[in-house]
Amino acid sequence: MKNILEIHGVNAGYGSTNVLHNLTIDVAEGQVTALLGANGAGKTTTLRMISGMIERTGDVRLAGESIAALSTEAIVRKGVAHVPDGRGTFKRQTVEENLRLGAITRRPSADVRQDQEMVFDYFPILKARRMQQAGLLSGGEQQMLAVGRALMLRPKLLLLDEPSFGLAPLIVQEIFEIFRRLNREQGTSMLLVEQNAEIALNFANYAYVIETGRVVLGGTATDIKKDDQVARAYLGY
Ligand code: ATP
Repeated sequence: MKNILEIHGVNAGYGSTNVLHNLTIDVAEGQVTALLGANGAGKTTTLRMISGMIERTGDVRLAGESIAALSTEAIVRKGVAHVPDGRGTFKRQTVEENLRLGAITRRPSADVRQDQEMVFDYFPILKARRMQQAGLLSGGEQQMLAVGRALMLRPKLLLLDEPSFGLAPLIVQEIFEIFRRLNREQGTSMLLVEQNAEIALNFANYAYVIETGRVVLGGTATDIKKDDQVARAYLGY
């Protein structure tokens, strides 16, 4: 199977503090890979590192091409869309304006309207709320908007940072159903960071567990679910 993303021997952190140690992770094309780990394990830092937001050494390849030395903007242009924790929508802008801003790195074209319709097809509630300020949306709707905005980039790879955070279980279920459909219909590869291991393992094809910035376990989601250590540490068994 081809990998859309290959991270090999990466060290990265903040200033003089190294957080990721010799990190090696693959994301298979068209699949969902989950990154699990406790608070502070380095999951968010891994996504920031991929997006070029922090200094890193080592090899990061997108569809075989090195992106390790590229700026965040260049990495976005290559097709990596990052949905950060906290969602990061523009609160004073309307839903529609937020979606248009998502397409900003692309040349203007009729496709943008078509893509907006595609986003509305996945998230009908955003269509109903298209003229509303993003800051007035519910938490679940803001998460949908953040994902919708990322989709406007027509990403090859979607980086999802804790999409379930702070949302009611039913809303989380609804959002993951949409992710499943997106993955199936658009073939979008996803790297998903989740505290909620159960949700993540039910959705992902493959998973890694990281502890203090190191990969301690990697395997198919089915195998990881069966791992006693994971079950005790993250699934509450
Ligand atoms: P959480 O679920 O709590 O966000 P995480 O696995 O995503 O956990 P990170 O946010 O990647 O963890 O944090 C990893 C380590 O990096 C922690 O020790 C954290 O204190 C440190 N860290 C995170 N952000 C910064 C920052 N901006 N400056 C300095 N250190 C940071």
